[in-house]
Amino acid sequence: MLKDLPELNYTFDALEPYIDAQTMEIHYTKHHKTYLDKLIMAVSGTSLENMELEDILMSPGAIDETIKTAVLNNGGGVFNHNFFWKIMGPPNSNAPEGGILEKINETFGSFQAFKEEFNKSALSLFGSGWTWLVQGKDGKVMIMNTQNQVTPISEGYRPILALDIWEHAYYLKYQNRRADYISNWWNVVNWKNVSQMLA
Ligand code: MN
Repeated sequence: MLKDLPELNYTFDALEPYIDAQTMEIHYTKHHKTYLDKLIMAVSGTSLENMELEDILMSPGAIDETIKTAVLNNGGGVFNHNFFWKIMGPPNSNAPEGGILEKINETFGSFQAFKEEFNKSALSLFGSGWTWLVQGKDGKVMIMNTQNQVTPISEGYRPILALDIWEHAYYLKYQNRRADYISNWWNVVNWKNVSQMLA
């Protein structure tokens, strides 16, 4: 299991003005780091210590009850943030193309319709959690929400795109304006990396 935060492929201010540098820095160095520290604490001295995080999260039923909640909350937090950093990047006018665009078009009708459905799902999430585009074992993609740090891989889905809807992801800049955060976030999606998540 990785004992360090993954390297960010961009600087904290690279997602400005849509996601501010201070939010990025606190999100990565404090929130993400805390999940990692607590995960390491929870698995230390157990049989999970030398397992890959993904393998642990894919079989939640196999985790010992005494550490299960801590492992799923913090392990999910680590996995979800590792993923989130990867599918973002400096704002550009980059849009989905190739296989990912075909998948979106055949499932939702158009990129615009997909965005609308994704935004609606994100806005409907009560409390803290994530909105995802995931791929099932049958290859089909769908939008889903997960609560808190639940991760789609624990439910048999492969994450393709993710949006962190916890207040810590946007509150400094957007306060209660979650809808603005959601609509602005599309500007920092790195579609090249997203397309590589497809099976
Ligand atoms: Mn977060």
